Amino acid sequence: MKEIDPHDGILAIDTHVDIPWPNGPSPFEDGPRCVDLPKLKAGRIAAVCFAAYIPQDKRDDAGHAAAAGRVRAMLDAIAAMAPYDGSGGLLTSTAESIAQAYAAGKTGIIPAIENGYAMGKDLAALDEFAARGVRYITLTHNGHNELADAAIPRKDLDNVESEHGGLSELGRAAIGRMNELGILVDVSHAAKSTMLQAAALSRTPILATHSCVRALCDHPRNLDDEQLEALQAVGGLVQITIVSNFLRPKGRSADLSVADIADHVDYAVRKIGIDHVGIGTDFDGGGGVRGFMNASQSPHLTKELAKRGYDHEALGKIWGGNFLRLLRQAEAIQAPR
Ligand SMILES: [Zn+2]
Repeated sequence: MKEIDPHDGILAIDTHVDIPWPNGPSPFEDGPRCVDLPKLKAGRIAAVCFAAYIPQDKRDDAGHAAAAGRVRAMLDAIAAMAPYDGSGGLLTSTAESIAQAYAAGKTGIIPAIENGYAMGKDLAALDEFAARGVRYITLTHNGHNELADAAIPRKDLDNVESEHGGLSELGRAAIGRMNELGILVDVSHAAKSTMLQAAALSRTPILATHSCVRALCDHPRNLDDEQLEALQAVGGLVQITIVSNFLRPKGRSADLSVADIADHVDYAVRKIGIDHVGIGTDFDGGGGVRGFMNASQSPHLTKELAKRGYDHEALGKIWGGNFLRLLRQAEAIQAPR
């Protein structure tokens, strides 16, 4: 009897992957990165949110100008993975286009921005990001910015523990505008205060694109039970990440396996339900455990989850269905442009 492959027929989306920057190997060739187009094909990942990651720096005019320049160039690099001649991926900025790319056997490229620092104090930048197809913005990285407090303040940037008490006025306005533009609000890296306020404020459910659960690993980047319940209450998502020290205290990737990832998935599913959990690896940004060191090994996680009793429907939700639902919700409330 042929063994059933649980990854078969799953539209899988990885909601957080970094890109090579400022230069690096070609994304079109099987190279040294965890993620490139051949590895995504081999691992049967249908679409990926590629993050234009902007490290937090000084919040003066020069710092904000540099961030604006970097984010534009990085979004160009992400778009370049989807050349017009169709030889690479397809730029997929709607739930429908992701489904179409999957049906056509093409890799969906979903642009995202990691760190609201990219917009500085300029709300109008959000319109430009939306026009470039950006589907989520991570409110902060490590270190507070003009929008919100981060989970991990940066002493080297003179951060106090809590600067805004969560979201700033500008942060609140940014979320309002992101809702109108169909850009999801990502609360990975955000302080708990920021996260809970964003959950309450955003008209579209928020998500954490790459975080784990704090009950299993007490790290400030992870979400505690109150935060998980807040996500459930608003219909949001926690996308379990595979960064070793978020999975297990002082964990090293060589000592961890897909079982550790599945433990976090299990915990979140039991706590808040199958409709609120997904996967965001943070590959090429620190993600990777034994047996799941690059995108080509994605089915290993699927197999581990199937072994634990997740059926085809549940696996479909975890791997992409839930995220597609959020995109559709964002599109439904988006103001006409
Ligand atoms: Zn991150």
